Amino acid sequence: MNERPVPVADDDSRPYWEAAREHRLELPQCGGCGSLLFPPRPRCPVCLSTDLTWAEVSGRGRVHSFTIIYVPVVRGLEPPYAVAQVELDEQPGLRLVANSVNCDPDAVSVEMPVQVTFEDLDDEYSLPQFAPLGFLPARAGRTMPEVSHDGR
Ligand SMILES: [Zn+2]
Repeated sequence: MNERPVPVADDDSRPYWEAAREHRLELPQCGGCGSLLFPPRPRCPVCLSTDLTWAEVSGRGRVHSFTIIYVPVVRGLEPPYAVAQVELDEQPGLRLVANSVNCDPDAVSVEMPVQVTFEDLDDEYSLPQFAPLGFLPARAGRTMPEVSHDGR
C-alpha cells in the first residue's frame, strides 16, 4: 500500500479516474463546440453546453510551466521533484497539473515534450503524471514509475 494520499472522485471526475485506472487519459469533450475540458466539470466553459462525452487523448504535450518542490509537502512524496503544468497537444490552453517523473527535476524545462504515464496509487486509483517524450513505461505489474535523480 502506497502511503501517499489518493484522489477522491466525484460525479464529474469519476470517468477520468476510471480511465486512468486503465492507464488511459480521457477528458470531457463538448458536443456543442468540440472543446476538451480540464478539470472535468458538468458544463462547457466555452459555450456553456452540458452535452459532454468522454474522449481519449494522446497524453502528449509540452511543459507550459513548472516548479521544483524542495521541501516535504505531500506525505510519501520525497523531494526534490518537479510539478509541471502540461499543455496537451490536442488543444491550445488545455493544461493539466501533474508531477514530472523519470526526469531529473533540474532537467525539466518549458516546452519540453512529455507524455503521460500512470502511477498506481492503490487498487482503485492511478495518477496521471508526465515523463519526457520517449520514456517507455514499464508493462503491467509495476507499482509506480521511478523518479530518476541521475540526470537521465
Ligand atoms: Zn462547448
